[in-house]
Amino acid sequence: MTQVAEFNQCPVCTQTFPTGKTIEDTAARVVHDGQHLTGLGWCPDCAARRGDGFVAMIEIEEADVLPDNTPLRADKPRRTGRIGFLRRQVWEHFSNAQVPDEMVVFVGPKTMKEVDDLIASLVIEAARREREHLGATLQ
Ligand SMILES: [Zn+2]
Repeated sequence: MTQVAEFNQCPVCTQTFPTGKTIEDTAARVVHDGQHLTGLGWCPDCAARRGDGFVAMIEIEEADVLPDNTPLRADKPRRTGRIGFLRRQVWEHFSNAQVPDEMVVFVGPKTMKEVDDLIASLVIEAARREREHLGATLQ
């Protein structure tokens, strides 16, 4: 049997990446673009963000989002292609909901826009505070 590099697909960003393991080249494996996929696994980038306390937001079609931020079609959520990351505490404050253990939530485009607006307002507030701080130290 030939040994080949094993790939997983990230459930957050959908990238495929090598796991660093080798597996037997059997017909039972799913082969995608010459990559031997064996399943889902967080890619190093998304795993690092989760480790830093960020919640992954996967944007899906508005009609497919259930009130608890899970997808209507759990087996095949209709992704829009946008993802985002938000600090766990910010997500809990923003959504008034607990973050699932997997640190993944599904949001519609409306919610993603609200998060965008929230981040923009926080950036403006941080800049205002910085200006005040600088003003105070220059007196
Ligand atoms: Zn990823």
